[in-house]
Amino acid sequence: MLRVEEVYDTPEFASAADVIVIGAGIVGTSTAYELARRGVSVALVDKGIVGGEQSGRNWGWVRRQNRDMFELPLAMRSLRRWSELRDEIRIDLGFRRDGILYASNDAKKSPSGTRGASRRARSGLSVICLARPR
Ligand SMILES: Cc1cc2nc3c(=O)[nH]c(=O)nc-3n(C[C@H](O)[C@H](O)[C@H](O)COP(=O)(O)OP(=O)(O)OC[C@H]3O[C@@H](n4cnc5c(N)ncnc54)[C@H](O)[C@@H]3O)c2cc1C
Repeated sequence: MLRVEEVYDTPEFASAADVIVIGAGIVGTSTAYELARRGVSVALVDKGIVGGEQSGRNWGWVRRQNRDMFELPLAMRSLRRWSELRDEIRIDLGFRRDGILYASNDAKKSPSGTRGASRRARSGLSVICLARPR
């Protein structure tokens, strides 16, 4: 069982670390966490505070729709990872799966349109079209 301890900010630099990660947004903190749980000692440094820049002000969606095909595997892995994290670190991160509703005036570009359908088939995405048939 993984044990996660609260880490406090300090202005002191670590005296030694296997890896130094610069930037404590979602990318840096995730990198530091994944390294640490593999036994690598990590120093996470930031010019400000943890999550104090873009990662602390986005909309908080973990979406798969309207992704480029090359992004989809990562988006799907990310969604699985978010689902696992609460049990793994035993802290409620506020993550929940509610689904996403997209509005579009172009059926071909919508997630359930022609392009969306082939993406969906390849990735296993579940998409329901709410539009009335013409
Ligand atoms: C309006 C808006 C909404 C968004 N909504 C979503 C969403 O719903 N879902 C989603 O997945 N993505 C969303 N995004 C994108 C998402 O917020 C970013 O992709 C993500 O937060 C980037 O994370 P990051 O760790 O790379 O950067 P940041 O969170 O910006 O972290 C970078 C860190 O590096 C530090 N830093 C920078 N330079 C130095 C330096 N020289 N020395 C030390 N530290 C330094 C900064 O202080 C900062 O803490 C949204 C973006 C915007 C603009």
